[in-house]
This record gives sequence, C-alpha cells and structure tokens, in this order.
Amino acid sequence: MIETPEMAVDLVAFDSMGARSMCTYIETKDVRITIDPAVALAEKRFSLGPHPKEVERKRQLAERVTRRAIESDVIIVTHYHYDHHDPGDTVPLDVYNGKTVLIKDPKNKINHSQGDYRAPLFLAMIKGRAKRLEVADGRKFSFGGTDVEFSDAVFHGPNSAMGYVIQTMVRSGSERVVHTSDVQGPSREDQAEFVLRHRPQTAIIDGPMTYMLGYAYSQADLEASLMNLREILQGGTKNLVLDHHFARDLTLANYLTELRSEFRDARIGTAAELMGMEDDLLEARRRELYKEI
Ligand SMILES: [Zn+2]
Ligand SMILES: [Zn+2]
Repeated sequence: MIETPEMAVDLVAFDSMGARSMCTYIETKDVRITIDPAVALAEKRFSLGPHPKEVERKRQLAERVTRRAIESDVIIVTHYHYDHHDPGDTVPLDVYNGKTVLIKDPKNKINHSQGDYRAPLFLAMIKGRAKRLEVADGRKFSFGGTDVEFSDAVFHGPNSAMGYVIQTMVRSGSERVVHTSDVQGPSREDQAEFVLRHRPQTAIIDGPMTYMLGYAYSQADLEASLMNLREILQGGTKNLVLDHHFARDLTLANYLTELRSEFRDARIGTAAELMGMEDDLLEARRRELYKEI
C-alpha cells in the first residue's frame, strides 16, 4: 500500500506482478474505489500461448482483484479490453452488485470491437446489478469530501487504432492520485495534460510500449513519452508507477534507472516495486518459461 494521511492506494494487480492488469484500489475517509477490476493474459506472445505459470498467476491476482472490488463502493471501468473489465470469467459479476459504476462512454469515441460488441455485452450483464451506472467521460463526481474526476476520452496509445480510454483523478484534501489507463506513454499532449493539470503526488501510468518499438510504437512515441514523464516528475509527483505495456519488456530497467538518477527524491518504479515486491515479468519471459519445462 502507498499510504498517506488522506489516502491508501493498493496496486492490486499489474503486469509487473505476472499478468496483464492495471487494477488499483483507492481508499479515502469517504469512499473506497476500485479501478478496472480485471486480469488477462496475452493470447499470443512470441507465437506462444500462456504458460501454466501465467495461468496460475492470473487466478491468484484475480482473487486479489475480486476481494478489493467487493470491498469497494465505486467501481470504475476505463475501457472495454479484457484486462480492464471482466464479463465474469475470473472476476465474478457479483462484484458489481449494489455498486456505483462509473464507465467509459460505450457509444462515443470508441472503436468497433469495444463499441459494437464488448461494451454492450458487458453493460447488459451488470445493468441489473449496479445501484447506479454513469458514463464518466469528462465528468466530476463527489463522494463526501472526495472528488473523482475523469478526462475526456483520449487515445489508447499514440493513435486511435486501439480505441479510447478515460483517465481518473481522485482527490481527498490536498492529496491527488491519477490513474492514466492505457495511454502507452503518455506520448500525446492531451494524455499528459490531464496528469500535469492535477499535479498528483501519486501517478499510476501505463508507460511506454517498448515491446512494440519499431512496430506499433515508434521511436518518436517513445521520446515524446519520456519527455512527458520528465515533465510530470518536474511537476512534483513523488510516487511514479510505470507499468502495464511498459512491463512487457525486459528493457524497462534501463529507463527506470535513468529516470531515478535524474529525480532522486521521487519513488519511481513498477507497481510490484512500489508495493515492496520484486518484478515477475512472466509474459516478457514466456519463451524462457517454456524452455524450463
Ligand atoms: Zn486496453
Ligand atoms: Zn490494458
């Protein structure tokens, strides 16, 4: 847990812990919130399906996610990929019972697979369960003294090919935490702007997608992202989590070492590291895992 006088932040499940997720739990004196209660595995990486070790890890992390989601008053769904919402596969739909559910707009700024298929299917499943279901894009909600604010829909990565996501800011007193969802960087100005505007003490960021460098992610995207991350740190962020797409590549340590040497009074690392654990990059090591058998 990252604990401060106003908030406790639990980085529940992340790629650095061995399966795809950005599930985050935030507790203030007013409200308990879970962002993106889901865990998934890459169907194919290095032309290989998930290793049994990953399947088991996904199950363990899904249990942690389920426990946090059940404890929560509010559940946020930032977009409709299976590592961010689960139509009852390993995280049961019961977690939505009686909850306030704040969702990415399922009709506008959404790509074909999420807008025509995944979102309507999932929302039909949770409709009778949630106490309150609200489209959250660009909106602000208050729960007692805690504010929850969302960005407008921004690209899922450097362009719209993978659709759109919403970013979340939670404020209690003078403390702020931002969760960027799948911005893959952030390489774009509007993605970075939401973080910069709120100057969060804690920023939970989907870092540069270096495992696709030269393919779906360009050198220019990487450079823009590193520039934005430096600007976020200059803005005063003290806990910087870089994970998710960033933790699918063993080169992540090089970038982290460089940022740490420049910003010595900030805690910069993967979610596993900031939770006091060691990285366990199972997907990035999938080829080796099969060789061990
Ligand atoms: Zn996604
Ligand atoms: Zn994702």
